[in-house]
Amino acid sequence: MSGGPRQPDIGARLTFDLGKPGRTACSLPPCDVPEADLPPPSLLRRELNLPELSQVDLVRYFLALSRRNYSVDSGFYPLGSCTMKYNPKVHEKLACLPGFSGLHPLQPLATVQGALALMHDLQRWLADITGLDGVSLAPAAGAQGELTGMLMVKAYLADRGEAGRTRVLVPDSAHGTNPATAAMAGFQVVTVASDSQGNADTQALASALDDGVAALMLTLPNTLGLFDPNIGRIAEMVHRKGALLYGDGANLNALLGRARFGDMGFDVVHLNMHKTFGTPHGGGGPGSGPVVAKGHLTPYLPTPVVAKEGEGFVLATPERSIGRVGAFYGHFGVLVRAYAYLRTLGAEGLRQVSDNAVINANYVLARLRPAYHLPYDRRCMHEVVFSGSRQRAKGVRTLDIAKRLIDYGFHPPTVYFPLIVDEALMIEPTETESKEALDAFCDALLTIDREAEEEPQVVKEAPHTAPIGRLDEATAARRPVLRWRREVGDGS
Ligand SMILES: *Cc1c(COP(=O)(O)O)cnc(C)c1O
Repeated sequence: MSGGPRQPDIGARLTFDLGKPGRTACSLPPCDVPEADLPPPSLLRRELNLPELSQVDLVRYFLALSRRNYSVDSGFYPLGSCTMKYNPKVHEKLACLPGFSGLHPLQPLATVQGALALMHDLQRWLADITGLDGVSLAPAAGAQGELTGMLMVKAYLADRGEAGRTRVLVPDSAHGTNPATAAMAGFQVVTVASDSQGNADTQALASALDDGVAALMLTLPNTLGLFDPNIGRIAEMVHRKGALLYGDGANLNALLGRARFGDMGFDVVHLNMHKTFGTPHGGGGPGSGPVVAKGHLTPYLPTPVVAKEGEGFVLATPERSIGRVGAFYGHFGVLVRAYAYLRTLGAEGLRQVSDNAVINANYVLARLRPAYHLPYDRRCMHEVVFSGSRQRAKGVRTLDIAKRLIDYGFHPPTVYFPLIVDEALMIEPTETESKEALDAFCDALLTIDREAEEEPQVVKEAPHTAPIGRLDEATAARRPVLRWRREVGDGS
């Protein structure tokens, strides 16, 4: 940062406080229609403290706010398990074509055949990519896809007279949505330990598997970024006991075009369109979590699914459907982006995605391994999980390292997850970053490691460059200040 006088930080104050009475951002022409009477005074607020700003002040205010936003478009965003890849802008443009964005969900089907054809293709391709048979595009996000899948498992078991299977096994490395989903679907959650290699412990699994188990929910690669080489045997163990194998496919980046859930023995999986398939996310925008199932579970898919009938497409309800999981057809705009993404890349392109995602993660692994403890020291898939335990011994915690990265211009990786890694740092570089970007990020982390040794206070008090440093999180949670009040004593 340069010396010299600092510009006033416009975004640091609210428009309310920046305003001056009488200023307006636009002037309207004189009213040339008869004025209507105001509603009765009892219905009017006496004072409405709206900010009064000129147009240029307003523009500067919002621009200043937007610059405080960190996004994939502004820099490297290695948030593990979230797959913050760059999403090509052309897909946004396609999703905004009036023929898509102007559709109304209650339009007669005859007038939306193109949209249905797109959904039908997407269903088919997702089935191909996963090696499974039937797809519903309805779930609105990964977690809802999980819930949908587990409700299908429940309905399937009930139809077979096996409603007594009330337990669901979840490895201790799983994403928090897995146990939450199983519980929401009415199952009892049983945690299965991981072994020293970071795989599901097959002995623990064998002893937990009995006639009361409905399913094992497995993430592959798991949240340690590791591929479980026992997957074939695990699938066999689960099926031999009459249970089903649920796959968390939120992070398909590692497997695209290389391995298929169906071939590995999974019965039902969910995918995240907003991680793997080209929809930007992170701001809580719409997502999409299609659920994909083997033949014996497809009659239970939620309604509607798009089916071909003669030359056209219709909306169908599978025979034993669990019903609706949302309004209408899912998040159509996200589906258009996924369709465009798949058409753009093609089979060869998808393989390159997973190749590069895995190579990039292993490059980061190799560069940081001398400085950061790698609890599971083996080749990783799309992400790598380090532990900040060495730095902690010097009094610097993983949280401090993450905050310090902000000073170097990077979004911090996921921290303290998965729970089984002490002081976890979970880095997912994705396939869309160059070697230069990866090197800059690794250099920053190596510098922070040296700082932890030489000037730990700098790391512990980071970030120094962000508009807000460390929050008092306890006070923020206990006494949140959520209401604007006019700044007092502001004579300006
Ligand atoms: C992101 C994620 C989920 C949940 O997906 P949402 O769309 O955020 O609900 C589930 N499992 C894993 C492994 C994930 O990374």
